[in-house]
Formats: sequence, structure tokens, C-alpha cells
Amino acid sequence: MEKVLQVHDLHVQFSTFGGIVHAVRGVSFSLYRGETLAIVGESGCGKSVTSQSIMGLIPTPHGRITKGKIQYGGRDLAKLKEADLRKIRGVDISMIFQDPMTALNPTITIGEQITEGLMEHQKLSKSSAKRKGLEYLEMVGIANPDIRFKQYPHQFSGGMRQRIVIAMALICEPDILIADEPTTALDVTIQAQILDLFRQIQKQTGVSIILITHDMGVVAQVADRIAVMYAGKIVETGSRRDIFYHARHPYTKGLLQSIPRLDQEGELIPIAGSPPDLFAPPQGCPFTARCDYAMEVCVRVYPERTHIQDAHLVNCWLEDERAGLGRNAAGKNSYY
Ligand code: SF4
Repeated sequence: MEKVLQVHDLHVQFSTFGGIVHAVRGVSFSLYRGETLAIVGESGCGKSVTSQSIMGLIPTPHGRITKGKIQYGGRDLAKLKEADLRKIRGVDISMIFQDPMTALNPTITIGEQITEGLMEHQKLSKSSAKRKGLEYLEMVGIANPDIRFKQYPHQFSGGMRQRIVIAMALICEPDILIADEPTTALDVTIQAQILDLFRQIQKQTGVSIILITHDMGVVAQVADRIAVMYAGKIVETGSRRDIFYHARHPYTKGLLQSIPRLDQEGELIPIAGSPPDLFAPPQGCPFTARCDYAMEVCVRVYPERTHIQDAHLVNCWLEDERAGLGRNAAGKNSYY
């Protein structure tokens, strides 16, 4: 499969009054053409900062990429100037956010907003842009696009506004669509419709999607592959089947135990404790303080990536044969 994007050892920091926040700490992943990769994790785990880095949207001067590469189309996006990023943003890589109202200008008609990018980037005439705009409104399920084209955002429901934002993001036919919590602000029925729309659109256009979410229910419906993030790092990656049925990392298992599943009975078990302070991240595994299986080595050394099988990778000492399980003669957990 063709790789459309490759993120390698990405580090992002923010300078604040309290010190430096190490928000993303060595994230690496690839995105393949036509797939949906879900990046999941709790709030503050670095998933949104990762997607903002790809789009060149890290707020400066406080935030900056301190290390790593973001390879797209033979270029390193981490090194591009704002003017060059602007040519890629919305054209080759588009992004949609949780609240569609933040992406829509309430004082401008939907028609003008949806055709703006086409006229600016693809230099289409007003009439050609309108034709394509109507086509995309219809594609995302907006009935009577001719009438709707002249209306303002407040004349649409939340679900319809998100459909319009999706049409706007796709109209320049990008290679990559980044969707950051795209259904969080919507009720469950509309959420299911929007997820269904993602699947249809991907089939029609072949766009690669990065879905950023904390919702494993959403992930189960649309993701081909899943990257689980914790405290600024990817701790487990695998296919949907790998993650939902053969999860290896205790954090991934904890996430799965804390959501309701139709195929499993029993109580929901929340993950006790809270993520580590990213002002001073731990040198070992950041999940140590919350992990029932933590060993001494976990505190001191961050685990390397272990290849389970195919695309299934995990960073956990439990999967590394150099870390022995059980207790040694001194009554302590053994380690390499
Ligand atoms: Fe738990 Fe250690 Fe694995 Fe981290 S490396 S998840 S602390 S067992």
C-alpha cells in the first residue's frame, strides 16, 4: 500500500508560565492511501497537537516542533514556511473540527464559503465553482442544494452544518482529511449518519482519513487502523481487530474496559489515577503509576517498540523478553 504521510519521531513543546509542556514526545506513524487511521487517547494525550503539527497549526511562538519529520509529497512539512504550508492546507490536506460553527462564518452564505477555496486555489470561475459546490452539497446529503446554497449557517441544524464542513474540506479533493473529534458535538443518531458519510466519501474519493477521537465507539465504526496515544506517545498500534480483540498494552485494555460493548457483559471499569505531568514527564513508561503490572524497569526505562504481528506494535515491557515477569529472589519484580 502507498504511504501518503509519514510522521517520524515528532516532538512538540509549549512554553508556558509554569514551564515547558512536552505535549508530543517522539510520535511516529504512517498513513496509507485510502485508509482511516484513528488516533485515540484521553484529553491531553497529544493527539490533537499531533494533527495540528501536520497542518502547521501549532500556535507560535509558544508552541514549536522541536524534533522530527512530517513527510508528505517528498517534503518535510515540519520545515516548511507558513506561505508554503498555506498552499497545502485545505488543498492537499484538509481538517475538520469538533464544532462546525468554528469553521463557518455566520455572516456569509454557505455557497460563498464552499466555493471560496475552489476559486482561490483551483482558480475556477464563479459558475464552475458553483457547479462543483452544488455537487458536493448533494454528495454530503444536503437536500435542495440550489436553495441551501444561498442560505446562512444558522439556517442549518448541527448535523447539517457538519456535513457542509465536510463538503468544504473535500471540495479541493485533498489526499488527506484530518477529522478532530468530528462527531463529539452531535447527538448519537446524527453521529451515526456522519460516520456513515465518512465511509461513503472515502469509497467515492479514496481520501485517507486521520480521525482524532477519545471515543472508542466511533473508532470501532470507521477505523481501519488505530494508534493509541498516552502522555505524548503512541503506545500501541494495530488493525481494528488487533486493538479491539487482541490489545496488549494495559492502557489500551483499560480504555476498552471503560466503554460499553454489546459483545461483552460485565461492569465498566474506569482507569484509576490520572495521566502524568507533562511539564516533567517520567523517564520510564508514563503509565507506570496507573498500571497493575508495573515492574521496576518500567519506572526507569521507556520500553522499545515490540512487533506482535503484521501491523500490531506495542511499547510495553510485558511484551519485551528482556524484562522478566514475577519476582526475583529479593522479592522485587525482576528487570533487564
Ligand atoms: Fe505497565 Fe510497564 Fe507496560 Fe508501562 S511498560 S504499561 S508500566 S507493564
